[in-house]
Amino acid sequence: MYLRCPTCEWSQDDYWDDHYNPITCVTDWLDDLLHRDLDEMIPADGPHTPAVSVRELLARAFEHEAAAIRQMKYWTREDAKANEFRCPVCGGFCLED
Ligand SMILES: [Zn+2]
Repeated sequence: MYLRCPTCEWSQDDYWDDHYNPITCVTDWLDDLLHRDLDEMIPADGPHTPAVSVRELLARAFEHEAAAIRQMKYWTREDAKANEFRCPVCGGFCLED
């Protein structure tokens, strides 16, 4: 579930739990990525998804999760509810998508 503020730029990709969190999101990829040649190129998949190396894909996965951790305010939906779904940046009411 995506939580976003309609007033400012803040958003949170999802609520996290023991089974779905930034660590498990990356480790889900590890078996596949760590047994490949880091410089193997993954072919382009259309004009908006150019070819990329396994090394670059792995780096991007960690960067994506790092950004998610920096943006994350509410670990669970209950945390957000306890704070009346307020935006941690501007204090406005957030929307769940
Ligand atoms: Zn806001």
